[in-house]
Amino acid sequence: MRGHSPVFADLHGGRLTIDLKALADNWRQLARRAGPAETAAAVKADAYGLGIEAVVPALLNAGCRSFFVAHFSEALRVRALAPDAVIYVLNGLPPHGCSAFHTLDLRPVLGSLDEVAEWLAHSPEDAPAALHVDTGLNRLGLSPPEIALLPKNFRPALVMSHFVSSEIPGDPITLRQIATFRAVREMIPDVPASLCNSSGLFLSTLKDIAFDMVRPGYALYGGNPTPGAPNPMREVVTLEARLIQLREVESGVSVGYNAQWHTTRPSLIATVSLGYADGYLRSGGATAQHVGGKAIVNGVECALAGRISMDLITIDVTDAPGVQRGDWAVLVGGRLALDDVAHRLETNGYEILTSLGRRHERVYLSS
Ligand SMILES: *Cc1c(COP(=O)(O)O)cnc(C)c1O
Repeated sequence: MRGHSPVFADLHGGRLTIDLKALADNWRQLARRAGPAETAAAVKADAYGLGIEAVVPALLNAGCRSFFVAHFSEALRVRALAPDAVIYVLNGLPPHGCSAFHTLDLRPVLGSLDEVAEWLAHSPEDAPAALHVDTGLNRLGLSPPEIALLPKNFRPALVMSHFVSSEIPGDPITLRQIATFRAVREMIPDVPASLCNSSGLFLSTLKDIAFDMVRPGYALYGGNPTPGAPNPMREVVTLEARLIQLREVESGVSVGYNAQWHTTRPSLIATVSLGYADGYLRSGGATAQHVGGKAIVNGVECALAGRISMDLITIDVTDAPGVQRGDWAVLVGGRLALDDVAHRLETNGYEILTSLGRRHERVYLSS
């Protein structure tokens, strides 16, 4: 597919290539790690920005049968693609929301005693729902003492909790959360349990904490679940942008808004058709104080020059060979790993993915 539709590509500034085969391989790798626990998939936020309509069928095809979304509207989209899947809505039950969940056989992740009471009052007996227990995030979920106050006739289909910092091996809070979760399970025995996100799947105690289901998101999309160590996952996302203009400038000239970056030699500046409106965060701009992001142009790693504009980025391509208008600059992918780009842009890869924006030409590689 790549390069197959030059005219179409020119309607867009950027090209986002999403490798669905790598995504499916990532799911299978995690499923092997987690087995015999079931491997679900977190597909909230439009499958971390990559597109629910492409990602969910690829995961179904790989064997995934359970999905986690944040919002009811996302659950509707997953249901349309996956009539038989189990779909959990992480952000829980909105007031008066029960019948909407029943109509499409969706499962709320109930996060408070109020939500449990409303669900029980307005649902057929044994309508499946998950129970979220807060073991340290202090965000959603019942606090452990509230477990004792649950109505006796409530039997969740799943009890789950979420890690605070599973990506940091040895963080003492992880051990405390595991201990709390075990204690909670003893209070509601014989209910399937789920604790691990992507990074949880790479903790050394995995076989003791995989329980009945794991819920990876980020690692499926190629993010590194083990920051600081090599990424065990296959890369899924590549972001490229067209060079739309080249400009020779003298030494000592400023480039970009507010004149925060200056050439220190006669330079060749390329302008690409992609900016912060496309999700390349403004924190990636290069100023006197901040190195900012990088681009690969004709195989050479180049520094960005000046601030990121809404629709444009300027790149110092002086050292790249034979650069021409119409060439492509790689901004994420290959030597510019997602997690490294995120670090340069002073955020994490989750925010990079979910910021990607809707203006790119999207190329889905399926074989
Ligand atoms: C987003 C989310 C996940 C997936 O987390 P990753 O770090 O992306 O693997 C799992 N569980 C809950 C509750 C979540 O909100």
